[in-house]
Amino acid sequence: MNTVIDRLIKSRTLFVATHINPDGDAIGSLISLGLGLQQYGKRVYFYNESPIPAVYRFLPGVELVKQTLPPKREWDTAVILDCGDMERIGEAADQVHRSPQIINIDHHVTNTGFGHYRLVDPTACSSTEIVYRLLKQMHIDIDEAIATSIYTGILTDTGSFRFANTNSAAYVICAEMVQCGVDPYTVAQHVYGTYSLGRIKLLNMALDSIEISPNGKLSLMTVTHDMFAETDTNPEDVDGMINYAKRIEDVRVAALIMENANGADQKRFHVSLRSDGTVDVAEIAASFGGGGHFNAAGFGVESSLKDLKKTINAIAENL
Ligand code: AMP
Ligand code: MN
Ligand code: MN
Repeated sequence: MNTVIDRLIKSRTLFVATHINPDGDAIGSLISLGLGLQQYGKRVYFYNESPIPAVYRFLPGVELVKQTLPPKREWDTAVILDCGDMERIGEAADQVHRSPQIINIDHHVTNTGFGHYRLVDPTACSSTEIVYRLLKQMHIDIDEAIATSIYTGILTDTGSFRFANTNSAAYVICAEMVQCGVDPYTVAQHVYGTYSLGRIKLLNMALDSIEISPNGKLSLMTVTHDMFAETDTNPEDVDGMINYAKRIEDVRVAALIMENANGADQKRFHVSLRSDGTVDVAEIAASFGGGGHFNAAGFGVESSLKDLKKTINAIAENL
């Protein structure tokens, strides 16, 4: 922790980035750390390759996040948050790789240990938990904007305090964030309570797509490009849907196949995996070149949908 803080203090300009198709923890850790460093007097470039999902656009400071790199590298330190490996930040990875200093802040078990400095703690419920500790140690004031991002990161990565990564820190930190001015109802309304009609229609199709393996231990949900087109939705709207497939009794692993949203490359899929706590899906995802946590992981793959379904169903036979 102290060497990371030293590095941050010595830096003048920082590039802060998180993974593509960001979730609440990715955006929350990006904004909370970025705002904290700004308060400390640093110049900060906030970066995420993907558009910010609609449900997170209420976060104070969200307008600071850019989808493009500055024309030339002007930062001395890059901080990569909530990424098991550098490539998770997307196409900028090649360029960011050449940063003079790289700090890796994450909580994935599959973290590759990239970067010159690391704060990787798989026991942390979220990357925002680690950012919280860092800001505290740097005596940075947790104002309402920073608190809202930390709260949202913890809330979403713990599945509203239901997933196995929910620890006492999740409650303690969130209670403090409420004291700092966060209104839990307002956050919940934005994150879970205001969906487009298209998203609800997409949920209907996704539920309808669920197939169960012959042994009943694996459920498979499929979201295709055609479904996105018909409901006028995109990948951010799929967030959380896999949990329906995971809830089915006797299911140990739920998989969600998501086809490229624009249909330009119909052979490119993202696969999400969730476990009921008895199977290490991070290991399964890693065997396909991806990663994640024991109970939640994912990977990208090029295949035909038919072959991919076969591959996924083969996983079921070993459960
Ligand atoms: P998702 O599949 O997007 O629901 O993500 C589940 C978990 O796996 C998250 O913690 C992700 O950061 C991680 N994850 C998803 N896709 C990948 C990937 N291609 N490589 C490494 N980790 C991934
Ligand atoms: Mn994440
Ligand atoms: Mn996370």
